Amino acid sequence: MELCDIKEVGALLARHGFTFQKSKGQNFLIDPRVPERIARESGAGRDTGVLEIGPGVGCLTQELCLRAGRVVALEVDERLVPVLRETVGHFENLTVLRQDVMKADVAALVEEYFPGLSPAVCANLPYNITSPVLTKLIGSGLFGSITVMIQREVAMRICARPGTADYGAFGIYVNFYTVPERLFDVPPQCFQPSPRVTSSVIRLTRRERPAEKVNEQLFFRVVRAAFNQRRKTLENALAAGFSGALDKAEAARAVLDAGLPAGVRGEALDMAAFAALTRQIERRI
Ligand code: SAM
Repeated sequence: MELCDIKEVGALLARHGFTFQKSKGQNFLIDPRVPERIARESGAGRDTGVLEIGPGVGCLTQELCLRAGRVVALEVDERLVPVLRETVGHFENLTVLRQDVMKADVAALVEEYFPGLSPAVCANLPYNITSPVLTKLIGSGLFGSITVMIQREVAMRICARPGTADYGAFGIYVNFYTVPERLFDVPPQCFQPSPRVTSSVIRLTRRERPAEKVNEQLFFRVVRAAFNQRRKTLENALAAGFSGALDKAEAARAVLDAGLPAGVRGEALDMAAFAALTRQIERRI
C-alpha cells in the first residue's frame, strides 16, 4: 500500500473509523519524498536501533524499517495500532508499542530492544510536545543522533545565534549537549490535515561531552535567570533569579569578573560566556 496516498490512506482510516485529533498533533505526511528523505538523513543503517515517536499510519516507519537493524515505534493513539498492523505489520524488525513517549522508560526500551545496536531517534514529532520530548530524549544521553521534523519556528530557536530574538534557554540546552543542523523545510501542503505552519527537519548529533566543563545544574539556573527577564540587564536578572543568594552588587561583580561589560543583557552571551559567569556565581553562593 502507498502510505502517502491520500485516497488509499483515507479509505483505510475510514474503514477503521479513525478521525484526526488535533490534541495529538495528528498531521500525517502525504508527500512520499518527505519520509524517504527524513529516514535517509537520519543515517540509520543495519547497525542502528531507531526509536520512532508517533508512527501514525507508518509512512516514515516503513522507510526506517527498510534501513535500520531494528525499529521501535511508540504510538499513543490506540486506534492506530490495528492500522499499523495492516500497513507495516510485515516488517520483522519492527515493534509497535501503544505508549505515550512522555511516560515511556526510554533507557529500558533501548536496553531491551537495541542490544548491540547504536540507538538513534527519528520521528515526525507531534507539535504540542516538541520541547518536552526533545528535552527528555537529549537528557537521556542515549541517542547518537535525533532526526526530527518540528515546527520551523522551534527549529529556528534551536539554531539561533546569540543576540537574536530567537536565541533563548531551550536553544542553549539543545546546543549544550548536541550539535544541531537544520536540514530542510516542509510546507503545510505536504500534510493531511495541513498545519498552519511550516515545518523543518533537524538533526541533533550528540556531543562527546557537554559543550562546557561547568556545574551543569547551576549553568542552567543562570541561563534561566538571564532569559526569564531578558529585557533586563544581566545583573538585575541574576539578582532576581538568585534572590536571597546573590544581591545586585554581587551579581554586578560576577558579571565583570566573568569578563563581561556592565549593563550587558543575557541574550548577548554565548555558551562560553554563560559558563564563565556560572563559575563566578559558584564562587559567591
Ligand atoms: N509519523 C506520521 C507521519 O509522519 O505521517 C505521523 C506523525 S503525526 C505529526 C504525530 C503522531 O504522534 C501521531 O500519530 C500521534 O497520534 C502521535 N502522538 C501524539 N502524541 C504522542 C505521544 N505523547 N506519544 C507517542 N505518540 C504520540
